[in-house]
Amino acid sequence: MKKKYVIGIIIAVTLLIGLLTIFFWPPKFELKGKDIELKYGESYHEPGYKVTKFGKDYTKKVKVKNKINKDKLGLYEIMYEVKINGITFKKTRKVKLVDKEKPTITLTGNENITICPQAEYEEEGYKVVDNYDGDITDKVKITKKDNQITYSVKDSSGNSAEITRTITKEDKTAPTITLKGNKTQNIYLGNKWSEPGYSATDNCDNDITNNVVKTGTVNTNKLGTYKITYTVKDASGNQTVEQRTIKVISRPSIPSSGKKGVIYLTFDDGPKEGTTNVILDILKEENVKATFFVTNSGPDYLIKREYDEGHTVALHTATHNYATVYGSKEGYYNDLKQVQDRVKRITGYESKIIRFPGGSSNTISKKYSPGIMTFLTKDVVNKGYKYYDWNTDSGDAGGTNSASGVYNNVIRNLSKNKANMILMHDIKPHTRDALRNIIRYGKNNGYTFEKITMSTPMITHHVNN
Ligand code: ZN
Repeated sequence: MKKKYVIGIIIAVTLLIGLLTIFFWPPKFELKGKDIELKYGESYHEPGYKVTKFGKDYTKKVKVKNKINKDKLGLYEIMYEVKINGITFKKTRKVKLVDKEKPTITLTGNENITICPQAEYEEEGYKVVDNYDGDITDKVKITKKDNQITYSVKDSSGNSAEITRTITKEDKTAPTITLKGNKTQNIYLGNKWSEPGYSATDNCDNDITNNVVKTGTVNTNKLGTYKITYTVKDASGNQTVEQRTIKVISRPSIPSSGKKGVIYLTFDDGPKEGTTNVILDILKEENVKATFFVTNSGPDYLIKREYDEGHTVALHTATHNYATVYGSKEGYYNDLKQVQDRVKRITGYESKIIRFPGGSSNTISKKYSPGIMTFLTKDVVNKGYKYYDWNTDSGDAGGTNSASGVYNNVIRNLSKNKANMILMHDIKPHTRDALRNIIRYGKNNGYTFEKITMSTPMITHHVNN
């Protein structure tokens, strides 16, 4: 009886233990994959899990708690929980969110830089962006070795990046030589040639004019072509050569206009219809060239004819009004310009040959501007003009009113020992009528006729104001 009771207890206890064991027996709780290393920026994908107990699948009862903050690197846990018969079973998976991407360095300017040998490289700038840290430009470490600049940087996860800029110091650009004045120059035999000047600059050495070596000489006493060579090297040995050619040429033959026995027929105050046109006809028939000191009067076509038919169109003044032209220096030049513009407009030619109204010896100008002739006679020459008075007066402006009077006044004063500068006025009928006989006389007596050109020596009066 006692033994049976014990056995009974044992069996009961064993059954109880067995039941309890079945009840509390943990399920088979499997996580697929293990701990995970997740790269920053990637999404978490659940690898999967499975829960079974005594052949029964509890997977669908699993609750997953994912606390990953994908914006923050770190170690996270994913909790898996399942409740079976009121008992909770747990599993955890470790997820490590990491950054394995290195930062990106961007250089301003090229990776390969060439600078002048003496120059120092001036940093052009750089920028570093990291996928996790953002802008970490201030973390860059710069090291310089030889000709290389290395920019290195590490992000907060220790990923490092590096970029190198190579600086080459060299100058392969040759200097520039600039010659002042023309590269080809003509000079008359016997004249002095002087260097017009030059300069040399280099991209690296700046002004190296002092390093220019000049070779070659010009012998202006000998006709020929001479070359002056300018050579310059920069500090890197780049060389530039320039050359100037100087031609020593013979002087032009002395113009016959300067010779004695020449007659310059000069006509003032025109043009005028009825006289100038006939004078032009006569000159054409006689094949003689003359000089017309024109004003703003008369028709344009006569000035055109004067020019087209080979005569010299010279400048008297526009108004021929003494008060205007001698009232002031400005007044004179304004008036002169008017007539100069007229001639240019009609002929395309800018005349610089002038005759002062009343001649440079006039005294009437004193009434308007004392000393103006002393000034103007010098100033016009300084400005590049040539002015011509006369040494033979035909008297046609007052002394005589007849063709024979004009003729006599002219031929009476002609001389083979001088250049004969004849003052006439092409606005006068008696001059028109005397002209052919004057020309015939000159031809028959061995004179030659010429027009005034810029190379005609000036014939000038004594200045009286
Ligand atoms: Zn006049």
